[in-house]
Amino acid sequence: MGINSKTDTVLRRAVFLDRDGVINDTVDRGENFFVKGKQVRWTAPYSYGEFKFKSGVAESLKKFGELGFLRIIVTNQPDVKYGFISKKEYDLIMSDLQSLPLDDIFVCLHARDDGCECRKPKPGMIVEAAKKWGIDLGKSLMIGDAEIDMDAGKAVGLRTILMDYEHNKDVAADVRVKNLSEAVKYIKTI
Ligand SMILES: [Mg+2]
Repeated sequence: MGINSKTDTVLRRAVFLDRDGVINDTVDRGENFFVKGKQVRWTAPYSYGEFKFKSGVAESLKKFGELGFLRIIVTNQPDVKYGFISKKEYDLIMSDLQSLPLDDIFVCLHARDDGCECRKPKPGMIVEAAKKWGIDLGKSLMIGDAEIDMDAGKAVGLRTILMDYEHNKDVAADVRVKNLSEAVKYIKTI
């Protein structure tokens, strides 16, 4: 593990995880769905009823912890601002998320054009988490299902794990996995 020269403390390793498409299923809106003028087929849940954990997520997160990794969600959630989901339903989903074995959750609530530093593909949330927790980014990983996740991770030297979907075949990553259980197996080999 790396050493932080300022404090002489040992830096920790972390697994950064996107939310939608990694922790829970995304929702198919069909081929004629647009968000702020951009065609988007698979989206975050727009109601609590649409929210569904992927199977085995809690078990895999527990294993990441046992392997010595912090587990930190870094997620863009602009849909309250866009009006696709009510704040109340959004809060219900985030409350369920907090029932998982996670160490922290960082959320960017901004819209695409807000020009913030936190919205992925910018690595702002990862940088903030690294400062807060004392994380060695060179020994940490990003797990996501989209190019913006991989780009945010690569920007700060994270190893990248892509959840394998038909709609992200053109996205580059260090490794592709079918589920978080496969990500656990991969992490054991590095
Ligand atoms: Mg996603």
